[in-house]
Amino acid sequence: MARKFSGGALIIASHNQGKVREIGLLLAPFGAAVTSAAERGLAEPEETGTTFIDNAILKAKAATIATGVPALADDSGLGADALGGAPGIYSARWAGPEKDFGAAMEKLQIELGASENRGAAFVSALALAWPDGHVETTEGRVQGTLVWPPRGDRGFGYDPMFVPDGGAQTFGEMEASAKEAVSHRTLAFEKLVAMCFKRA
Ligand code: IMP
Repeated sequence: MARKFSGGALIIASHNQGKVREIGLLLAPFGAAVTSAAERGLAEPEETGTTFIDNAILKAKAATIATGVPALADDSGLGADALGGAPGIYSARWAGPEKDFGAAMEKLQIELGASENRGAAFVSALALAWPDGHVETTEGRVQGTLVWPPRGDRGFGYDPMFVPDGGAQTFGEMEASAKEAVSHRTLAFEKLVAMCFKRA
């Protein structure tokens, strides 16, 4: 049996405003008093894990240990099928210290070269950690196609390059609610909600 979140304060262990916004919306019905790691002035731990789940656990544990409050972390990224899943856990790092996702998307396009396989998946791993060391984790995934040039200025990161299977618009062109309906983060979140959250 998974542990339930009992309400009250919850840290979103992320410095990525796009993620904090999306996770904040997803958490709205559950009576959590949410603050982000950035708002709390917490340092960003080094992501030394080799999987999305490892890195989500590492971030959630760092935030819950620093604050004494339960913490929810997401580790996510985009994996291109033709590149054996790259950039994967290195998705943010491909954008460099300037977090330049225009450059990261160009790098991805160059690496894909003339490959006809434009398949890719966004993956989100979530970890909910408590100060006593207990952790629950889930993972969500959405399959799609990489387009060039990028389209749309909504969302964040690699969104303008990614068309989910069954859709025509990129995540960067879709309304926030349309992306939320199909996204990797929503799928991971739905699993976590079923395991750990009760509606307020
Ligand atoms: P993390 O903060 O180490 O988990 O980095 C995840 C990175 O993956 C982000 O900075 C984005 O580049 C990319 N990413 C994850 N989720 C999304 C998404 O929903 N849209 C676009 N890019 C995403």
